[in-house]
Amino acid sequence: MTQRPIAIMWFRNDLRLADNPALRAAVKWASEHDGAVLPVFILDPVIDGQLGGATRWWLEKSVSALAQGIDGLAAKSPTKTPSLRLFHGDAHGVLETIIGSCNVKAVFWNRLYDKPSTERDTDIKSALSDRGLTCESFKANLLFEPWEVKTGNGTDFKVYSPFWRACQKFPPPRTPIAAPDTIALCDADLGDEVSLSALDLGPKPFDWAGGLAERFTPGEQGAKDQLFDFIDDRLVDYADLRDRPDRRVTSELSPHLRFGEISPYQVWHSANHYADAHPAQGKTASKFMSELGWREFAHHILFHAKDLRSVPLQGQFAHFPWSEDQDALERWQKGQTGFPIVDAGMRELWHTGYMHNRVRMIVGSVLVKHLLIHWRAGLAWFDDTLVDACPANNAFSWQWIGGCGADAAPYFRIFNPVLQGEKFDPAGDYVRQWVPELRDMPEQYIHKPWEASPLILKAAGVRLGTDYPEPVIGVKEGRERALSAYQDMKQAA
Ligand code: FAD
Repeated sequence: MTQRPIAIMWFRNDLRLADNPALRAAVKWASEHDGAVLPVFILDPVIDGQLGGATRWWLEKSVSALAQGIDGLAAKSPTKTPSLRLFHGDAHGVLETIIGSCNVKAVFWNRLYDKPSTERDTDIKSALSDRGLTCESFKANLLFEPWEVKTGNGTDFKVYSPFWRACQKFPPPRTPIAAPDTIALCDADLGDEVSLSALDLGPKPFDWAGGLAERFTPGEQGAKDQLFDFIDDRLVDYADLRDRPDRRVTSELSPHLRFGEISPYQVWHSANHYADAHPAQGKTASKFMSELGWREFAHHILFHAKDLRSVPLQGQFAHFPWSEDQDALERWQKGQTGFPIVDAGMRELWHTGYMHNRVRMIVGSVLVKHLLIHWRAGLAWFDDTLVDACPANNAFSWQWIGGCGADAAPYFRIFNPVLQGEKFDPAGDYVRQWVPELRDMPEQYIHKPWEASPLILKAAGVRLGTDYPEPVIGVKEGRERALSAYQDMKQAA
């Protein structure tokens, strides 16, 4: 058993070296106690339970990038053992085993906000503190803790705008912390360690993740590159063009934020510096920062809700007459609804693990309203296919789309997939990219091919019902059916 005192740095959804308060505390503790740091990642049932196919793929790459980053910092004090230790199993049990096998005196981590994580962390903290270990958690992944932001009555917020206004009354978010220059790593041999491949996160049964890898570079460096590209090239257009899937001006930082490869502090301060340096562009920077505010709000709601994944925040929706139409669900999942903007979005998702926010709203509305399929089915599909699928934003957004969430638009505001397509993909470029069957359709019909004459369809090489499906339901018919289901729910509630 090594005699140097050891501080465990328990990485979870904070897979970064810069702006990592728990890591900084572990390094500081080790230097003050002439000790060493033991960086640990544990694939425990809580983390595992929150992963889908696309997030598993991302996590494997991200853990690998983090391990390389730690190797780099350990270069000045090389060790024989891996720098990031990997484990599989119940986190409390794993930590106890490590503590039993070497001289651990302190454990540090950054906070999470979903119930399974908070319950696990509370139990671990209390057990380890009772045994006299230093055990500290840090605010790192949110700008404002969910319990810090309160209404005038001392309650939590249910509406976004007053929530974000209240956040802005706090002092500005602290400046980001630099990554440590070096880490004195613990080289103790530990039992039960596993290799990255043994975590079995990679795509199965074959490598289907080529499109994800083409679009994204998981890891801290990939996150920084993505942030700088966005600030330098696209933030200027964000306020005006952020709703346009054909223009791709948004940051696409969501998966990096999901895994904590970059912190909201780093993102917020980059946008703030941009606003200071370009006073005329303050509007676009503040629009972008307000989207970070939606992320904060989703976590606020997640923390305070009973069970955001399955219980509607507006109780009457427990009585909604959902449809069990499996065929319609599969057509939606496969991008075969016959609504071009929906099919483009669902195919982009399948191919890249990502979908533009406006298109997420359209596909969500069509599923939940036109097709009357439960928002939990959409949530489950997104959980499996999105690289940014996260317990807060995904569940929050699906409840919002379903009309049963916090600050959701009234249920009867139903997106029309044709008008939405025409407004936000005016020339049809986004549809043409993802639905190549419609590539040669004229602009006028690209979002409603069923209205084109046989001659126009023929010229575009489209046989409706053969090359591309007829709409799964009429736009108007679906809207009326949804409104009637809503009335049924109100009577039943
Ligand atoms: P940008 O516009 O560049 O925004 C910057 C960051 O702000 C994002 O990375 C994200 O962290 C946050 N953000 C932006 N919009 C929202 C929003 N509406 N709600 C919460 N946070 C937001 N986002 C996820 O991160 N994970 C999800 O699982 C997820 N599921 C969604 C499901 C549905 C049905 C809908 C309608 C939205 C969902 N969103 C989710 C929110 C939003 O679509 C994505 O955050 C956004 O598209 C990510 O792209 P971006 O990074 O370019 O965003």
